[in-house]
Amino acid sequence: MPVVEIHDGRAGEGVGSAGIGLPLVWADGFVLWPNGLGLDTLSPTGFSFISHAHIAPPPGRILATAATFDLMSRRVPEEDRLAVPFDRPFKIGPLEMTLFPAGHLLGSAQLLVEVDGLRVLYAAGVQTAIPLTAERCRVPQADLVILADHCLPPASLTSPLHVAQAAAQWAIETSSAGFSPVFLVNPLGPAEDLLGVLADHKIRPRVHRSIYDVTVLYERHGVHIEDVRRLDAKPYGWDAVLLPPDLGGSPHWKRLGRTRTALVTGSPPERGEVSAYDDLFVMGTHLDRSGLARYVTATGAKRVALSPIYPASFAQTLARRGIDVFHFLEARQLSLRLEPRRKRSSSDK
Ligand SMILES: [Zn+2]
Repeated sequence: MPVVEIHDGRAGEGVGSAGIGLPLVWADGFVLWPNGLGLDTLSPTGFSFISHAHIAPPPGRILATAATFDLMSRRVPEEDRLAVPFDRPFKIGPLEMTLFPAGHLLGSAQLLVEVDGLRVLYAAGVQTAIPLTAERCRVPQADLVILADHCLPPASLTSPLHVAQAAAQWAIETSSAGFSPVFLVNPLGPAEDLLGVLADHKIRPRVHRSIYDVTVLYERHGVHIEDVRRLDAKPYGWDAVLLPPDLGGSPHWKRLGRTRTALVTGSPPERGEVSAYDDLFVMGTHLDRSGLARYVTATGAKRVALSPIYPASFAQTLARRGIDVFHFLEARQLSLRLEPRRKRSSSDK
């Protein structure tokens, strides 16, 4: 294994003359600097990796999968796109990179960066359970894992399949009671996951245009979801309706008659928010914190860099597993100094 020294940049430890320096900066996202590779950063770095389509890409050249480019709300100009398939290594300067499926959303990717034998794995939204509509996650081996979920992962979550099945059952019972079941759900990812399970239960859904447009893009990337129709398509009639969560009070509601609503969300909402809905389904399309700890262990990494989103208790969980944790709680820089790779001996495994 290569020897990695990690120094705190604020303590005056810069890039050493021996070995290769690979400073890691946290500002509004991680940046591998001076290579200037932004990792889901909000501000432009000139060249940014975007892990999945929930992330808004900054201006500049963008590295992502073809599905992510199609699903992003902000269109990236063709000349700024570097669309790379999974499992195909490519080189930019001294960095060799490979994308691996993350299982969070169609097209979502983990980025493995290799430099002089060091394997740095970046992940922002990973789901290792068998996915409902995304590509199945594969976990590569790494020396350092950089984690930067874009929202706080709950401590524990029920598997997305079980939650979607419970939601389908709720729709059946709600219809039997004489109400139209209405799901308020993120159009990008969770809606498609739910639609697939509703189809398995022979439930005919009607969906808002924003959700329908995403299902068309999924279809283009080989993910077929049965029997999805737009809310305004004739003839009217449905077993369940899917709307984006921000459509409360829109003209759509009048047409739906007597309704019951269920919020489908990735994280448990604040107490006050729940009372606005008849029911709630917490369907995480990313790992909970115990799943994330198992994910890190599965990579074999002994070092982890965490963005500020994670609580101190998660850093402690990883530390108890014998992992060196670098928790970025504010904008700062760490410099990873990579010593020249030693020859493998029988004691190296
Ligand atoms: Zn996401």
